[in-house]
Amino acid sequence: MTDPRRRLPAVDALLAEPDVAALVTAHPRGLVVRAVRDTIEHARANGGAAPSEGWGAAVRARVQHLAAPSLLPVINATGVVLHTNLGRAPLARAAREAMTRIAAGYSNLEYDLALGTRGSRHGLCRDLLVELTGAEDAVVVNNAAGALLVALSALARDGEAVVSRGELVEIGGAFRIPDIMARSGATLVEVGTTNRTHLRDYEGALTERTRLLLKVHRSNFQITGFTAEVSAQEIAGVARARGAASLYDLGSGLLVDLSSWGLAGEPTVAEALASGVDAVAFSGDKLLGGPQAGILLGRRDAIAACRKDPLARAVRADKFTLAALEVTLALYREPERARAEIPVLRMLTEDVEQIRQRAAALHKDVGKEAEVVEGESEVGGGSFPGAKLKTWLVRLSPGTRHLTPDTFAARLRGGAPPIVARIADDRVVLDPRTIFPDELETVARAVRAALDA
Ligand SMILES: *Cc1c(COP(=O)(O)O)cnc(C)c1O
Repeated sequence: MTDPRRRLPAVDALLAEPDVAALVTAHPRGLVVRAVRDTIEHARANGGAAPSEGWGAAVRARVQHLAAPSLLPVINATGVVLHTNLGRAPLARAAREAMTRIAAGYSNLEYDLALGTRGSRHGLCRDLLVELTGAEDAVVVNNAAGALLVALSALARDGEAVVSRGELVEIGGAFRIPDIMARSGATLVEVGTTNRTHLRDYEGALTERTRLLLKVHRSNFQITGFTAEVSAQEIAGVARARGAASLYDLGSGLLVDLSSWGLAGEPTVAEALASGVDAVAFSGDKLLGGPQAGILLGRRDAIAACRKDPLARAVRADKFTLAALEVTLALYREPERARAEIPVLRMLTEDVEQIRQRAAALHKDVGKEAEVVEGESEVGGGSFPGAKLKTWLVRLSPGTRHLTPDTFAARLRGGAPPIVARIADDRVVLDPRTIFPDELETVARAVRAALDA
């Protein structure tokens, strides 16, 4: 028997085939060569069998795949508003426009237009953050993990930082408070137990080497039952009395109170600052609803130390972030406007009747293999853990077609644009809370195509 791999075409021979050669007129030659090699390699790995669709079609498909960007817009039908895997906060129109405006040309990123001299990017969002929160000073870096690293380095390096064992959290993506602490150059001192930590635990841990007391908001889980934790206010008090700094890792950056919409329990930035800690750290792309960023707010000397820390340069924010963050923050000058125009806030506070109407419209377009049922959406992104938002779901039941939920969901993900759905109780469900109104038609079409495929 001859090895079928012997019959694989040579790269040059395949490139000379008319339908492959034609690809070179529309695509860079190097790209087509790579697609040819990939296609032959793929056939070799498959035991040498020629692609079922034919060599020309297989190379064309590979070229198209390689030519397209790999970072794609997707439709979020999961109902998880702050979906970290799907890029967290979609931006307000004003923020998108600001990014485009700054991207196209030069800007005064680090240039003082009045003086005609070098300026600082740190001034850009600072005044708005101070205005909106009442903090003495503010600095913006690349993300909240970076903000925490900078603050720990600036305020606790070469000394001890005291944290409750109940707050030694992992945020996801292998971001753990003890690891960040180690890299910042501060020595972690753990106090209390997983479920209970008392003020006397902090007091008992203070030494001459103590530089900082850290409070971490348990943003992505809850501890219930026999529990005790020490408030940020008490921690700030002990720190001040002993000449140490205090830092509050808040996580989400909620700037407006959402308790009227049933979302309570997450401290607002103003509440965190009012506790009297020296600095608070939070994300720009969680509940704030802006671009990925880390924001540090607080007392003048603490923030000045953070700004001067060498790590602040290493994790500085870029001009697109600063452009988008500034206009997102400006929307908060009118809280109602922020709620209407910042997608995260709009989705979290949307009237459930509106969601039901979108579910009904989607149901109508999909047809009888769907039904509208009550369900729950999630805030996500390590915010309001345990909070449930009432919603209406479109539940798909591909009747007699022997389509498993996994296959169905995979078909939806494989479309253009990809649609990411949720599987619940062995059915694919779509939550219109996170589907933008102008995406509904696309979703309906994709669902019909997935059912008929
Ligand atoms: C999300 C979160 C972080 C990390 O924020 P990034 O912006 O993702 O870096 C840090 N601390 C807490 C408590 C969080 O919830």
